[in-house]
Amino acid sequence: MKFVQTFDRYITIIFFFTIITIVLTSYFTFKEIINTHNKQQQRAIIPLFSLITNEIIHPLAIANFMANDQFIIDYAQQEKVDKKKVLQYLQRISKQHKTTSFLAIEKHNLLIDSNNNETQLSYEKSEWYYRLKKELKTQFADIGNANNPHLFFDNKILNDQQQFLGFAGVAIDLNYFANKFREYKKRFGFELIFVDNNNDITLSSTALMKTESHHRKNAVINIDTLPWYAAYQAAQQEEGNIENIITFNNKDVVVSQMPLKELSWTMFIVSPPPSQQSEYWQLFFTRFSIFLLVTLILYYFFIRSVNYFKVNLIKDTETDFLTKLPNRIFLHWKLEDLAQQFSDISIVIPDNDHFKVINDTYGHIVGDEVLKAVADNFSNGLRKDDVTGRWGGEEFIMLLPGTSATLAKEITERIRKKISEIPFSISSSSHPFSTTVSFGICYHQLKKYSLKSMISDADKALYVAKTNGRNRTIIYGEPY
Ligand code: GH3
Ligand code: MG
Ligand code: MG
Repeated sequence: MKFVQTFDRYITIIFFFTIITIVLTSYFTFKEIINTHNKQQQRAIIPLFSLITNEIIHPLAIANFMANDQFIIDYAQQEKVDKKKVLQYLQRISKQHKTTSFLAIEKHNLLIDSNNNETQLSYEKSEWYYRLKKELKTQFADIGNANNPHLFFDNKILNDQQQFLGFAGVAIDLNYFANKFREYKKRFGFELIFVDNNNDITLSSTALMKTESHHRKNAVINIDTLPWYAAYQAAQQEEGNIENIITFNNKDVVVSQMPLKELSWTMFIVSPPPSQQSEYWQLFFTRFSIFLLVTLILYYFFIRSVNYFKVNLIKDTETDFLTKLPNRIFLHWKLEDLAQQFSDISIVIPDNDHFKVINDTYGHIVGDEVLKAVADNFSNGLRKDDVTGRWGGEEFIMLLPGTSATLAKEITERIRKKISEIPFSISSSSHPFSTTVSFGICYHQLKKYSLKSMISDADKALYVAKTNGRNRTIIYGEPY
């Protein structure tokens, strides 16, 4: 029994040790993943700068270069325009920077681009020209061309007297920006939003990017209308809010802004904050709870099946195969157990009389049947707390706790008579035979005597029974 308890303890320890190992491993792995993720997010700021430089500052610089090129300044002031020459120039720029380049000349009301498109400037077709011309600035980024929306980087051409001569610039397909920003967002989780000086959104990584109207009437979206913006503005008012972490819709976001002076634009970077870790941890604990629940269920079934096998295994090891009575192992344990509950006991050793003769006469198989029948009678004739088992060979032992020798004798006598009346037969034609059993009894205080000495005393009584004619019960130490 001690071995069984140790086994149970080991199983439990191994099981929980495994769970703790899994949990700790997952915990540290998860922590590492979050750290890596945060580092990657921090690194995202570097590609962001190259994104801005490549996609916005660079085309702006080309437009600026063209407008300040003496060739263009001279060309825009010529009385007669040589289209071939300017087309060559525009195409070279276009090829070099992989953009469409264009030139708008005030003097000749002419718009010409690197794709050899040529139009007359007019209020209807070139609204942008007249709108931007009025502005004080010289550099612009403007969305235009309703059918095939492009971002136009326009730079005013001025002569030495600061007279307006027209515009030079490049045009980039809006879809190109959309893809670049989307790609960036996908990689780093940052949302980019560009607004002009009216806070109208010009470019963004979201679906907000307006492409519908180059007249900028219907599709203008002001950043004020974005859900997080009000929270951001409120946070800006707060003193000491250096981290720009704002909460809206129960979600934290970090908002940073950066001016793009050349265009009078502002870029907003909206990103999930590192503190979203709490969300990750929430996820971790949810998963962990499920894991724990599943593990406990598994553990329950595991213990149940182990117990099932254990009970059967123990039963097997404690049961005699032939008679199905408890064997010597169990009897030893049982006596220890009884010693905890009872102060005295009667020990009975029964022994079949002349059993060798039965074996010799009828064979071992019949001998076995006789043993089984005798064993059945031993166990049936006892009370609830009594135990009987096979001690070995054709020897049995009965433990009758809290029972006087006299009472034990009454019990064994009843059993003895019953056994002697059983008719055994090997076949229907042969004569039945019977068997008898002798009993030796000893009565002792449980704690004072060892099992060995008690058995020895019962054996002595049995010996007396055998030598005095068999088929009887003798109590140790009593006259017969
Ligand atoms: P006594 O009256 O003096 O007890 O005579 P006995 O012949 O019964 O002598 P003893 O008790 O010494 O002999 C026991 C015999 O029981 C010996 C052995 O062959 C037989 N025996 C022991 N275990 C088994 C068993 O499992 N099956 C069968 N068939 N016989 C067994
Ligand atoms: Mg014997
Ligand atoms: Mg015998």
